[in-house]
This record gives sequence, C-alpha cells and structure tokens, in this order.
Amino acid sequence: MGLIRTTPPRPVDVTAVFPELALLARPAMRLHPRPGSPAVRDSSVGGPLLWPAREPWPHCEDAHLHVDTGFRQSPTEVRLQRRLQSRWRPDDRPPVFTPEEEALKERNAAWLAARFDAGPPRPAECPVPMLPVAQLFLRDIPLLQPPGQADLLQILWCPYEHEPDAKPSTALFWRTAAEVGDILATPPEPYEADYPGYVPEPCVLAPETITEYPNSLDLSPELQLALDDWDRWQAAGIDSYYAEYPREFYSTHLGNAPGWKVGGWPPWGRTDPYPRYCAVCEAQMVPLLTIASWEWDGDQGPSWAPLEDQAAAAASHYAGQDPAQPTGVEVGSTDNMQMYVCPTSPKHPHTDLIQ
Ligand SMILES: [Zn+2]
Ligand SMILES: [Zn+2]
Repeated sequence: MGLIRTTPPRPVDVTAVFPELALLARPAMRLHPRPGSPAVRDSSVGGPLLWPAREPWPHCEDAHLHVDTGFRQSPTEVRLQRRLQSRWRPDDRPPVFTPEEEALKERNAAWLAARFDAGPPRPAECPVPMLPVAQLFLRDIPLLQPPGQADLLQILWCPYEHEPDAKPSTALFWRTAAEVGDILATPPEPYEADYPGYVPEPCVLAPETITEYPNSLDLSPELQLALDDWDRWQAAGIDSYYAEYPREFYSTHLGNAPGWKVGGWPPWGRTDPYPRYCAVCEAQMVPLLTIASWEWDGDQGPSWAPLEDQAAAAASHYAGQDPAQPTGVEVGSTDNMQMYVCPTSPKHPHTDLIQ
C-alpha cells in the first residue's frame, strides 16, 4: 500500500474539554478509497476479489420486481460513462472514448444484445450475480476481528433495491487467503444496476487509524446537555462562531468521522440511534463497515478532508469529478450504509441499515 492519506489533527482534544468522553473513545480505520487499478490480492473498494474458482459466485435470490425499462445501465456502461466524465472540461471539446474504451463498449453492447436475444429471465434477471463492494486484508486493516485463521473479508451487494429501506442487499465472506488456490478469473456481472451509485468504482485504499467519539445522538442526555454548555468550550479557546450551537462544533469536527471506515462509531441522522441485536443470540451487534456516499461534506471539508486532498477539496470541480466521491457509491439519499456483525460469533448473520 503506497498510498497515504492523513486526517488533519482535530481542532481541540475533546477529552481535555470533556474528560468524561475519554471512556467512549473507539479506534476506527478510515479506508480513504481512491480510484485506481487494485489487483486481486490488494485491499480495495469495487476491485477484483480473491475468489476461489471452485466456489460458486454469490448471487442474490430475492425477487426483483422491476419492470425492464431498458433505461438502467450495465456496470460496464456506468464505469465507461464515469471515465468520460472524469475527462470533461467545460472549455474543451467533449471528451471521446479511447480505442480501448470503444472496444469495451462494443463488447458490452454485444453481450447485452445476446442476453436480450436469449429471452427470459426478464423483466429482471434472477438470480442476480453480486458486485464486489470491498475486499479487506487483515494485514492492511488490523482492526478487523476475523474468525479462526481467516485474514480476508469480502463484501458484495446486489445492485437492485431491496426492502426494507430500498437498499442493495449485502453478502459477507471471511476467508483465509492462503487457502484460495485457483482464482476465479472472470466473475459474472449483473446486466444492469438500479442506479449508477450502486456500481462501486475500483479504488485502492490508504487505511488510516484514527480515534473516534460517538455521534452526539449516541451520547447520554447529560452529556448532550454538557456539549451545549458554551462556557466549557469557550474556556478551551474555541472560536465564538459556534457559540450559538456548540454541539454543532462537536458534531462537525470532533465526533465520528465521515467516509468509508471500519469499526468506530456509527453515523446517525436519518433516525435516532437504535441498537441492533443479533437474530440468533440477541447480543448487541457492533459496527463493522461504513459504506459512505461522501468522504467529507461541504461543511466538514476543511476538517475531515485528508491533508493530501485539501487543495483538491478546496478547488472548484465539475459534476462527476468531486474528490469527496471517489467511489461513485451513493446509498439512500447520499447517506451511509452501516454493516453490523455479531460479536459472539461470525457465523451469526450480519445486518445493515441506511443512515
Ligand atoms: Zn437482489
Ligand atoms: Zn449472535
């Protein structure tokens, strides 16, 4: 992993202002995905998986009650469109496909035509081959807690909407990299995605360990009130810009980090926090992975954009070229998808929710 990304220091050590928060500190690893060409043995988002040739590729068996409008794009079309967009400059002539991209486009069109000629299954294919979302090696993400000898976590999703919450359905696999043997060279791909945001752009990672504190909604009522006490912040020398809404200062700069991350504290906002309990043993589940639509948002830009990206984050950019959306993933209304696992047993089913 040559890529390095560094979260800027927090504007204040929050435990110096609120010593009671020290007990709630949790480690998290920001993944810092950035578009690239990850290999099958790399940790990645949207990259190729180290998948055994002898093992069936995961498919989603859910009913997909979609009318085939012909307007959804295949993953290849989504990726090609993004490449064009990344080269677009307003004062220049419109970008065109390179000969390689043109060839890929033609192969994809022929594949789609053959699929349509073959007739059903339509209106939506079933079962649907799942798309790689993340591949995380323990050597890169030591915060993972794999079962037994496993050292690799693979997460895939089905790029259609599923109930509840109209979100992609996820599948999670732990495996031991040394036991994979022959690798599946060309995994099947779904022929379309409900939204381009359900097709993760291949990204390499620059994992970074940080310390996180809870989202303010996850704090006790007493602590939430304490965060509203401007006198305590003022005594710590915080800019009076936040005097009216001191809790906002905490939420923007000091609580949980935005973006793709492993562990840490979950993001909330769409609803109040609610604990997730294992369907098998009823243990309270713990955050595994946050799949984010944004690495940082406009308000947080200067605060959470890595030092290496600050110039790019501050510069103006065109549609489809926002450095805060490196993966192209959009879930919910540009929200986050949280994946939870049971701390008692990795064999118990995971769960996820949109926040
Ligand atoms: Zn599905
Ligand atoms: Zn359990």
